[in-house]
Amino acid sequence: MAIPFLQKALVGAYVLRQQLAGKQRYPLALMLEPLFRCNLACAGCGKIDYPDEILNQRLSVADCLGAVDECGAPVVSIAGGEPLLHKDMPAIVEGIVARRKFVYLCTNALLMEKKLDQYRPSPFFIWSVHLDGDQAMHDRSVCQDGVYQRAVAAIRRAKAAGFRVNINCTLFDGAVAAQVAGFFDTVREMGVDGITVSPGYAYERAPEQQHFLARGRTKQLFRDILARGDGGRRWAFSQSSLFLDFLAGNQSYRCTPWGNPTRTVFGWQRPCYLLGEGYAASFRELMEDTDWDAYGTGNYEKCANCMVHSGYEATAVRDTLARPLVAAKVALRGVRTSGPMAPEIPLHGQRPAQYVHARHVAIKLEEIRGRKTPAPGPVLRRQAGSD
Ligand code: SF4
Repeated sequence: MAIPFLQKALVGAYVLRQQLAGKQRYPLALMLEPLFRCNLACAGCGKIDYPDEILNQRLSVADCLGAVDECGAPVVSIAGGEPLLHKDMPAIVEGIVARRKFVYLCTNALLMEKKLDQYRPSPFFIWSVHLDGDQAMHDRSVCQDGVYQRAVAAIRRAKAAGFRVNINCTLFDGAVAAQVAGFFDTVREMGVDGITVSPGYAYERAPEQQHFLARGRTKQLFRDILARGDGGRRWAFSQSSLFLDFLAGNQSYRCTPWGNPTRTVFGWQRPCYLLGEGYAASFRELMEDTDWDAYGTGNYEKCANCMVHSGYEATAVRDTLARPLVAAKVALRGVRTSGPMAPEIPLHGQRPAQYVHARHVAIKLEEIRGRKTPAPGPVLRRQAGSD
């Protein structure tokens, strides 16, 4: 794994403290979305189709640092939208680093070279550059030529300036295993510190639905990729060995949506980074009042094909603590890429999808226009007295 010892030690100590305190649910990484505005319009994006009044909203520095303090997770991933469009982003990053939290600043890198001098290298600060494959794959994914080359130039400059630099790679239907493996080799040669890889989530509002992978195809794709890299050992993944094992179909995990709680301009998003089914006014309300059992593969139609790291990495980390020898074996020997797969979760009992996006947008617009005090999303909050 491409995670430095300091990070492993501090995150490991945090997880151990939560376990010893007997906490059933605790966050691992805060997903902070200080804005939805972006300077790209990717085919697989489900985040940027809001009216301008919402795209113009920003979380302030105080909002962001307040969310970091409220949540307490040792890792903060700043996503969006494009975070580098936020004028106060250097102050937000600095405030999080000052709290000794590991901050991953996700960016499409179009503004990265221009803004690099506004940031300082730190063991707590990681650039996480969006690259969905080689030049052909990535430029197709972001629907614009030349973006790959600009991202690679920015990565090289950041590495030369002493920054930690990761890439985050989302794979869609049509990805070719040999091409992805070749891309990972290229990334390694660039000197990138770590790779985060995940199948895309089929956002209901993404413009091109045919690109998303179903679970069976995801597992086979990851087997075919990892088989070309010694079970994944050839590449420096910034993910747990058991999460990669899950992607390759060797684990039957249920998601841990509270592992990556999400704060956006709407509030604390229920239930996870990928689904906006309702919003809580505080982190505590999110954790205590969400009906978590209503979500996840097998429980809810919108979750049927999800295998995304924001839902399952926390599950894999917990399993690593529960079964350290199994995790160590996968890390040492590589991910198994042949043989039977673990049983799939049955879908026959899942509840049908609810479509609530338009209602939340309307509530937010009313709030912005000052017509009405916003109500937190009422969808599937826990009933009083239930556990
Ligand atoms: S399976 Fe879990 S992480 Fe994925 S969309 Fe559903 S609740 Fe979110």
